[in-house]
Amino acid sequence: MRYKVSMPAPHSHLFEVEAEVDHPGPAVTLAMPVWTPGSYLVREFARHLEAVEAFDGAGARLPVARLDKHRFRVEAGGAPLARVRYRVYANELTVRTAHLDGRHGYFNGANLFLYAEGRLSEPAELVVQPPQGWHVTTALEGGPTCFGARDYDELADSPVEVGTHEVESFDALGKRHDVALVGRGFLDVPLFVADLRRVVEHLGGIMGGLPYDRYLFIVHLTEKRRGGLEHERSTTLNVARTAFFPREAYEETLALAAHEFFHAWNVKRLKPAALVPYDYAREQYTRLLWWFEGVTSYYDRLALVRAGIGDPARYLKHLGEEWTALVRQPGSSKMSLEEASLTSWVKHYRPDENTPNSAISYYQKGELVAFALDMVLRRSGKSLDELLRLLYHRYLQGGVPEDGVERGVGELIGEAAARSFFERFVRGTAPLDVDLDVVGLRLGRRAPQSLDDRGGTPPRRNGGGPAPGWLGADLAAGPRLLVRSVREGGAAHRAGLYAEDEIVAESGFRVDRAALWERMRAAGPGEALRLTVFRRDELVEVTVPLAEAPEDAVWLEAIDGPTTQQRDAFQAWAGVALPER
Ligand SMILES: [Zn+2]
Repeated sequence: MRYKVSMPAPHSHLFEVEAEVDHPGPAVTLAMPVWTPGSYLVREFARHLEAVEAFDGAGARLPVARLDKHRFRVEAGGAPLARVRYRVYANELTVRTAHLDGRHGYFNGANLFLYAEGRLSEPAELVVQPPQGWHVTTALEGGPTCFGARDYDELADSPVEVGTHEVESFDALGKRHDVALVGRGFLDVPLFVADLRRVVEHLGGIMGGLPYDRYLFIVHLTEKRRGGLEHERSTTLNVARTAFFPREAYEETLALAAHEFFHAWNVKRLKPAALVPYDYAREQYTRLLWWFEGVTSYYDRLALVRAGIGDPARYLKHLGEEWTALVRQPGSSKMSLEEASLTSWVKHYRPDENTPNSAISYYQKGELVAFALDMVLRRSGKSLDELLRLLYHRYLQGGVPEDGVERGVGELIGEAAARSFFERFVRGTAPLDVDLDVVGLRLGRRAPQSLDDRGGTPPRRNGGGPAPGWLGADLAAGPRLLVRSVREGGAAHRAGLYAEDEIVAESGFRVDRAALWERMRAAGPGEALRLTVFRRDELVEVTVPLAEAPEDAVWLEAIDGPTTQQRDAFQAWAGVALPER
């Protein structure tokens, strides 16, 4: 297959694409992917396709019939080649879609390229014709405008950036890395590039070297969005222009980069067998997304600490916050990690106000269960690093079978111990339990101390006084008191406060965040708040008898008097000394 992409009118947001199929035979069926690997939702990329026409090599028109939502049949009548032309509307700047405007062009192959059914394994050639003054950056071999892909998978897995962006480069472990910075942002470029290099060196060190010749980071600096998508030899990161300051935000940004980079091993090369080969026409189901996303999430922040970039105290706070969020989700007693993995296609990418009550995230719980598994392994003198290397070398060809991770754990700590762990935390919904003592840590629990208390830290000194009454509703961030979700079985749920209600008054007086919290503290458990809310456009009164606040904010801290063995274990795990209390 040969593809040519041009963009003669960037303001139209239309990419013009020409796809050439050699030896189409009497007829060839061309299809647009319905999803792109790494993002497990059917996105129907064909909805942006228009004006499909076909010609033979001499320019004579060939008949094209639309077969269904994403496929076309070209009657080639034995012509030596079929040339198909079409346009793709591209006005969605996310890491998984395509975008074209007067400033730049960006696309993932699954958004732009029809594939010939049954011919995915054939090599592909890509020619990009940029507007005057723009250049092309992609991880594909070749350049500056003509590239080769070993097959359709590689083409779809290699996003392309076209524009006037700068490209920084660094070497790490003997391999070249490029960083394409697209858009303007408030960042210290040399520092960012130096830190990326430390992340690459650290993770490459764990996995025994870098599995590519060249790697590309495409960084889109945008207004607010945060997201990334992994590829074999590249990644695209969308980060806010302001996401480099203060230090905590900068570490978040680096963690996103570390996350997508670590996928170069975990999910791009070590794949779920269920996704081998990719089927671009329909959903592919695996119970293992918790491993591929959860373990990767665990390594993203841990890598920063180990590489000497991330603050260890902040890392423990992060784990406490994630744990707190899990404890506060009634869905954690209903949905297992395996179920969350299988249902990503209908649940994970389509959250709503009921999600906390009915589901869990395989990223969030997956990260915590990876942490728990690492501690179990370390108790036996092993580690998650070791398990990763074992799986990587064993399943590099063919992918990880659905029971492959559990079998690997069984080899390291015994089959019965592995089964028990998986029954409770992967297939089951047992409350999270981590053997923190291995690394000299303990868990603390307390009641929330403000409406926005995310846990992760010990109680504030002046946080004492009477226990606040508990509403059991999560409020959206921002100046308005908008109920984001109502926790099942909580006070608000019983009293009939709804998600999306906007609280405007209590006992007839206007309240803001601080005032509402003060009213909850003053009222205490057993007393009622008389809330006035806007429910859609209607003013409604809801009386909520407050409950006793649960101790659902958790944090991690060093135990008193850790032993040398515990200090050593912490050092071996996090690469730094156990923080003093
Ligand atoms: Zn990921």
